[in-house]
Amino acid sequence: MIGAKTSVVALIGNPVGHSHSPAIQNFFIKKYSMDAVYLAFEFSEKNLKKAFNGAEKLGFAGLNVTMPYKEKISGMVDKKDSIARVTNSVNTVKFDKKKEISNGFNTDVMGFLKPLDKKNFNWTESRCLVIGAGGAARSVIYGMVLKKVKKIWVHNRTKEKVRKIIKDFKTHPDNLIEPLDSINEPGGKVDDADLIVNCTPIGMNIESYRNFMPVPEKCNLKDKFIFDMVYDPVETLLIKKAIREGAEVISGIDLLVNQAGLSFEIWFGILPEDNCIEDIKNRILMDISKKRLK
Ligand code: NAP
Repeated sequence: MIGAKTSVVALIGNPVGHSHSPAIQNFFIKKYSMDAVYLAFEFSEKNLKKAFNGAEKLGFAGLNVTMPYKEKISGMVDKKDSIARVTNSVNTVKFDKKKEISNGFNTDVMGFLKPLDKKNFNWTESRCLVIGAGGAARSVIYGMVLKKVKKIWVHNRTKEKVRKIIKDFKTHPDNLIEPLDSINEPGGKVDDADLIVNCTPIGMNIESYRNFMPVPEKCNLKDKFIFDMVYDPVETLLIKKAIREGAEVISGIDLLVNQAGLSFEIWFGILPEDNCIEDIKNRILMDISKKRLK
């Protein structure tokens, strides 16, 4: 029961109304009998600093941070883990009440790597294609760098952002990450890639994205790993094509639940077990399909 000693954790962002994080985190809280509650707060950027300080002063245990504040919060926390430092993106904050400091973490990177590890993806031999160059792409690319992949091609509508990523991520060898200007050439890098990750909203369940795919219709995805960051719908056109052609597929829902599990571990010291992660994943999937039927 909620009482005076109940720990408060919360999601901050704008918007947050669509977020599945409250359902996921409150599921973990119940499952592991924590005396805690997870809420969501939406506010404009001009109130970000006050809200962040307010959460700390009110004694919140921690925060999740979503779009568009991950970078801004990265600049506000007192300490950061190495992944948050390099990606300049914080999605999890833990307030240390004794030391009166805030610690920032990025669980998106490990949340991306985990489902691929579970499918025994062979990282060191792999050539990877990342489509998009926003916040999600940065986490994905950093995960690939950590895993010492053979090559990372990055394709994005705005070329400048790819150049900025290459500049920001000092890699060994220094040509590990290469820009890919066009993905439409037959026999191009889409065919050569072992892993393709869609880090754009293309395929999302809204009018302007729903009927599009981030890769050319003609390419063959057989035997590749396809990771689509989009999770509503789970079966995007890209995922449908990948299944049809015999690829290994991973949906954005896997990242969503895995990064949430890692945040829960940061706050409460318990990493939700695989069956618990699967359980909440299936509930979220049901929730998404119910909403669509309405
Ligand atoms: P972001 O920082 O805003 O970046 C969006 C990226 O998508 C940019 O590279 C942008 O290209 C590209 N893009 C947008 N519309 C496009 C279009 N019509 N055609 C081609 N490219 C387009 O967003 P983000 O945080 O990286 O998120 C990207 C996607 O991943 C979103 O759909 C988000 O919901 C999803 N995501 C999922 C999870 C999860 O848990 N599964 C976590 C994070 C993000 P420009 O640079 O040219 O604008």
